[in-house]
Amino acid sequence: MNNEELWQATLGELELSLSRANFTTWFKNTFIAECGEHSIVIGVPNTFTKVWLEKKYHGAILKTLNSIAGSRVTEVIYKVDVRKGAPINTFFLKKELEGDLQPEEPHYDASLETEGGLNKRYVFETFVVGKGNELAFAAFQAAAKDPGRVYNPLFLYGGVGLGKTHLLQALGRAVKEKNPKARVLYVTTEQFTNDYIQAVRNGQAKEFKDNYRNIDVLLIDDIQFISGKEGTQEEFFHTFNALHQANKQIAITSDRPPKSISALEHRLQSRFVWGMTVDISQPDIETRMAILESKCREKNYELTGDIIQFIAASIQNNVRELEGALNKIIAHHQFNNVKPDLSVVRSILSSFSQKPVSTPLTPKRFVTVVADFFSISIDDLTGKRRHKTLVVPRQITMYLMRSMGGLSFPGIGNELGGRDHTTAMHACEKIERELTNNETLRQNVELLKQKLFQST
Ligand code: ADP
Ligand code: MG
Repeated sequence: MNNEELWQATLGELELSLSRANFTTWFKNTFIAECGEHSIVIGVPNTFTKVWLEKKYHGAILKTLNSIAGSRVTEVIYKVDVRKGAPINTFFLKKELEGDLQPEEPHYDASLETEGGLNKRYVFETFVVGKGNELAFAAFQAAAKDPGRVYNPLFLYGGVGLGKTHLLQALGRAVKEKNPKARVLYVTTEQFTNDYIQAVRNGQAKEFKDNYRNIDVLLIDDIQFISGKEGTQEEFFHTFNALHQANKQIAITSDRPPKSISALEHRLQSRFVWGMTVDISQPDIETRMAILESKCREKNYELTGDIIQFIAASIQNNVRELEGALNKIIAHHQFNNVKPDLSVVRSILSSFSQKPVSTPLTPKRFVTVVADFFSISIDDLTGKRRHKTLVVPRQITMYLMRSMGGLSFPGIGNELGGRDHTTAMHACEKIERELTNNETLRQNVELLKQKLFQST
């Protein structure tokens, strides 16, 4: 067994005992870098992963390696290794091909990233226009033709997987194509927030301001995540004003209209609707069929008309899932070497049941997810006991309710066993403060967010 095979087999085992989000997050870009008689070096993409594997998964990794390699491994070392030509983890490649790893929201594919955070695939030319998205498409094209002049800001909102990020990036790319010198920046709201926090922490607030105020086109994705982050909102407000006054184009996406973003400062909310607000909704069946045909052409794959119609009729509310289904069908064809007929397609698609893409973030859901994550009972989480193992999860719950759910402080106190609103306020401030210098806390909060995004 070579290194590659050993690691594939190990991942196969580990996958069974971990949640998908955990498994993907921590093992995706790993490989065996060196393999000695008794010791193995695992290459990992960053320090974040290294620390996490050492802390959380070392035991499981060692045990699994030994069960496969025949109990000879006594030492496992994790090393950050990002050299060019590091082996690609084919385990994940294959899964992606099988359509088995649906990207999770928020989806950010760093491997496809190019200058200014733009992804090559997201251009106007590959966007299929139809009922549901034609207005949004037209608005973004107009803004690309005359940035900063016609629609400023341009605010696009709509559900998950409907093409918001695609249009936002297409705008940036089109501007760049016409004017290669234009400074175009695409950032997710999370990146903006993190950049800002880092800058403040490192005493580089001025550089941050200069950077962000010195661009021609600012593309901000998923602004709903700014909810409840007061410091970031303040900074964004000033960035917005500076750019807007200088007639620089600002385009913003969100999963909901500005007035529904809770815990959003009024002055920001009112600025968001200064220019043009458009929404994007589910494509109708003709558009879904056209999207499938276009993706088939892109992938150089042929499907009969009735299969295309069948897929388009089965998957209605998310273009990303439409693509996932197609990938799954293609992979099925490749692995079995038979062209799938309607009955095969039907069974492949049965896994794409019409469940909601994400479960609504009710107060109860925060409580359930956090309790489950820390393996404590809901009663303990919302109860009166003040043991450290309960207090921190409790504070995290409050923080998440505030930052993701936009609940009011009295509302949060109420949900967590009738606590006072000042308790909720202090908890949120404390977690926010600690997030910048407590790596474990940050990782836990990240994972919890991922879990909250998943559908149940
Ligand atoms: P959102 O940001 O709204 O969640 P994305 O922009 O990430 O959605 O779109 C999800 C996937 O679906 C992307 O791969 C995107 O290219 C594709 N997609 C969405 N709408 C269209 C469309 N009208 N034509 C072609 N591809 C689309
Ligand atoms: Mg998006």
